[in-house]
Amino acid sequence: LSLSEFELIQKYFTDITTSRTDVVLGIGDDCSLLKVPENHQLAVSIDTLVSGRHFYPDVNPYSLGHKALAVNLSDLAAMGATPAWVTLAITLPAVDEQWLADFSSGFSDLAKQFNVQLIGGDTTKGPLSMSIQVHGFIPNGQALCRSGATEGDLIYVSGTLGDAAFALASKQSSVKLDKPIPRIELGLALRNLATSTIDISDGLLGDLGHICKASQLSALVELNKIPLSSELESEIAKNANWDYCLSGGDDYELCFTISSADKEKLEKLSQKLDLRLTCIGSMLSGSGIQIKNNKGEIKLAQGNSFDHFK
Ligand code: ADP
Ligand code: MG
Repeated sequence: LSLSEFELIQKYFTDITTSRTDVVLGIGDDCSLLKVPENHQLAVSIDTLVSGRHFYPDVNPYSLGHKALAVNLSDLAAMGATPAWVTLAITLPAVDEQWLADFSSGFSDLAKQFNVQLIGGDTTKGPLSMSIQVHGFIPNGQALCRSGATEGDLIYVSGTLGDAAFALASKQSSVKLDKPIPRIELGLALRNLATSTIDISDGLLGDLGHICKASQLSALVELNKIPLSSELESEIAKNANWDYCLSGGDDYELCFTISSADKEKLEKLSQKLDLRLTCIGSMLSGSGIQIKNNKGEIKLAQGNSFDHFK
């Protein structure tokens, strides 16, 4: 006997996250009712994940629940927003209760970790896919846009780059690929500090390229400064393949710019958050991204981010 749509929503999506006092009415009515704190802006972002396109159909459902929410929270992090609410529209080919239970736990464990409440959604039958919309708060005027970099600013990235793309290409499972942790704390700490911020979802070159375009500047990136895990370091030593860290997607680290006067603040922040924050270059006048290799030669970047329509 299969669950009805309403039983399914009740069992796997209602009360699976924390209850927040700014939610006047959550799941169960035609709309949810919500309160945005005074003097704050609401930051909203949505992402769709389609089976066979963004994940393998047989992916572990717990990881999928985690990742589907994580990639959205990463957008809030990149804006400097405090996460608050999430909606979930999910399309399922059939009711598989074990799958639903695991997906729901992956989703709810991460939601609880960041005090996010699931406030509504939609459940339909069809090929497996999901759209998740997140909502967060930013004090008026403190959003971390892509457009604020100025000439001479230093470019930083968090963590290490390329691990998710390398794991995907070598068909290994990895925490970076399956269970990325959105850099929410870093995003909040960058308010009033970063001049521009983006999350690296499509690869460093493409995403830094968005900062360049929006800020009407160019970037100079020094290859040998890019932070690498030991796995990727040995891969590059063997094959000199920089594609994973330059254009591999799915890193969900933050790339941001700061005034060079704030360099020390960044070092302190890195210690405080116990998170690698590495300066990889600087913003210059002009357009495009130039890459300096370890011989000191400078080339205009050719490769770019993963493009769904190419
Ligand atoms: P309606 O017919 O008004 O669109 P639904 O039957 O789609 O309402 O949904 C009933 C309630 O359950 C709504 O409050 C909706 O937000 C919520 N809901 C439906 N699907 C989900 C889901 N996957 N996750 C969270 N809430 C959901
Ligand atoms: Mg509906």
